[in-house]
Amino acid sequence: MNTVKAEYDYIRSTFFPKWNRKGEWKLEIVPRFEDTNDEGFCDWTTKTIKICANPEMPIQVLLIHEIAHAVSRCRDAHQTPWLTRMEKAAKKADTIGMKDLAQMIRNDRELYTDVPVFRPSLIYNAITDAVVAAPQADFDQIINHVNEYHGNYSKQEFLKKFKRARQVYEKKKKEVLQQRGSVLTKTPTK
Ligand SMILES: [Zn+2]
Repeated sequence: MNTVKAEYDYIRSTFFPKWNRKGEWKLEIVPRFEDTNDEGFCDWTTKTIKICANPEMPIQVLLIHEIAHAVSRCRDAHQTPWLTRMEKAAKKADTIGMKDLAQMIRNDRELYTDVPVFRPSLIYNAITDAVVAAPQADFDQIINHVNEYHGNYSKQEFLKKFKRARQVYEKKKKEVLQQRGSVLTKTPTK
């Protein structure tokens, strides 16, 4: 438990020395997020950096990733200010001789560089298309599929960004099942 706190203090003072001087932001060590596989989360509503106790991702990269959200004010996405702040952290790691860390930061950043900004309508259309194509799929399967092609956000970020996702899914699913003369509880035949 305390190793996360120690790493947090180290990362903060080394990579983000100007951030959080007033101590508005807190660290919270949390159980694994129930509905996602995320190991960290930058929670703007409570100004909390939430980190899993035993993350699989290297803890320093995870902390830098989440704190970079707070510093760059990229609340729920990995846009240019976040990307820029990540590169700045990688450069810092270079200058203090932490080459492996620099590489890991850049690898993580790289996952988000080709993510275009999608309009919500495009996402909602992709959800309805996916439901038509696979009406037996549940909500998680549908949004994982859509997210893979159109965003690659974390699930939390996806749901925050596209607030009507579930509503759109439910509506279309009902329509499709009604058209098939089926009922919601009955598994459609393939
Ligand atoms: Zn993120």
